[in-house]
Amino acid sequence: MKISDFPSDIQSYIIPEPTGELFYKCLGCSAEFPINKPLYVCPECEQIFLIHDRRAESLKKISGKTWQKIFDFRKALNIPAFKGIYRFHEFTGSCIPESSIVYLGEGNTPIIEANKRLKEKLNIRFFYKNDGQNPSGSFKDRGMASAISNIKYLMDQGFVSDIIAVCASTGDTSAAAALYASYLQPHVKSAVLLPHKKVTPQQLSQPLGSGAQVFEIPGVFDDCMKIVESLSEKYSVVLLNSKNPWRILGQESYAYEIAQDFDYQMDDKVIVVPIGNAGNISAIMNGFLKFFEAGIIKSLPKIIGVQSEHADPVFRYYKEKEGNRKFEPVIVKPSVAQAAMIGNPVSMPRVIHLTKKYNELAGTERVFFMQVKEQSIMEWYLEANQNGHISCTQGGECLAGLFQAVKEKIVLTSEIAVVDATAHALKFSNFQNLYFEQKLPKEYNIKHNLDFINLPSLIMPDNGMPVPSQENRLNPDEFKVFVDDISQKIAKKLNLKGIL
Ligand SMILES: *Cc1c(COP(=O)(O)O)cnc(C)c1O
Ligand SMILES: [Zn+2]
Repeated sequence: MKISDFPSDIQSYIIPEPTGELFYKCLGCSAEFPINKPLYVCPECEQIFLIHDRRAESLKKISGKTWQKIFDFRKALNIPAFKGIYRFHEFTGSCIPESSIVYLGEGNTPIIEANKRLKEKLNIRFFYKNDGQNPSGSFKDRGMASAISNIKYLMDQGFVSDIIAVCASTGDTSAAAALYASYLQPHVKSAVLLPHKKVTPQQLSQPLGSGAQVFEIPGVFDDCMKIVESLSEKYSVVLLNSKNPWRILGQESYAYEIAQDFDYQMDDKVIVVPIGNAGNISAIMNGFLKFFEAGIIKSLPKIIGVQSEHADPVFRYYKEKEGNRKFEPVIVKPSVAQAAMIGNPVSMPRVIHLTKKYNELAGTERVFFMQVKEQSIMEWYLEANQNGHISCTQGGECLAGLFQAVKEKIVLTSEIAVVDATAHALKFSNFQNLYFEQKLPKEYNIKHNLDFINLPSLIMPDNGMPVPSQENRLNPDEFKVFVDDISQKIAKKLNLKGIL
């Protein structure tokens, strides 16, 4: 749509201006730092940051209703840079000019309502938001678009030049980092650290395909993270993990999209997310808080953070009464929700800060933490995909959490839930295949339930009959015999009735 065709009261807002005044604010000592160079921890107290905008107060001069109208009409704007996370530019990176935005098709992911059968099983109306439909197949692209656009902005401004970007990953961060960095070749090169044998083959192929340097490290993600932190302290590298607060800023777009998906009616909504390094839940809380403070939404949705029994440090922290809480990292055990298999989440200080603020502003407890069994994660993952979804195992973890939250009456059957399929099903199909072949190692603590198992059957003609192959083509008579025999066998298996 052309600018002149937008309603006149919002025409001047449709193309956002890069007038934001962003700064890093330390979660420990509240010190503020300029964003003209990459910074991940406070030089004074070593705590991590959130990014704030000095202009935030002035955004309130525009009414919530007008903001809604701006964002809704901006959907019709045909400038690629503002089609993804920067549709919400004033909230996701208001200092980044259009020319520095790296847009690879992220964000604006669909929400898919569950069918009747699945809703009856959970006893609640719910939607999947398919963040696996992002370009590298996970929600990490939202944060990476932000972090990489920030790097491009710093390069365009002359604050930094040729960059080596590094990250540790349970698989999806490295896929996103390598993809976005490769777009800025040759000025940005990426190196990724992966726990050896703890990412899926598809995830490993992604950074290799994008041309990143891939290092496999013995141990688990938490070990890789320590190495990356050490690299970022001692050497001149840009850190692309969610310790980098630009990642959080970009991932807030998930909350803004949900608000828009439901016409900004949030009072009966429940947002269910898996927790690994806790960047995503931090971003989602912060996103809803920012929209709430700007008057764009009138209430804060309920938020349910879900963890596996095999990687549950955040759940354990909140299980204690306020006052008795003390954060203890856990040693993780194998989890099919492997992308969330993290025992020492980097964003824990953000979770603590934002959960408190969220509940305070809501005036009641609105953030909850659930722990679910590996068996339940696996079965809800398979169940979702057998009912029209394309969920990863972490999406199964969300569904398991929702099921339990409804059972425990933390979530009411009158509410409407949005569960996060954080990655595409294809990235995690090896867990499905191991389950179907009854080969999941016993450390996962999962029994193979025959009801879910689905395997291919090879249909062969009876002994001695000729079969076609690439090299050996059958003569027409032989081929007819073959086709009749095989179709009969399939018809029998499918219980097909003949046409009279
Ligand atoms: C990274 C990731 C998670 C965990 O998100 P955090 O922000 O680390 O809590 C969950 N699911 C998938 C598919 C992921 O890639
Ligand atoms: Zn500090």
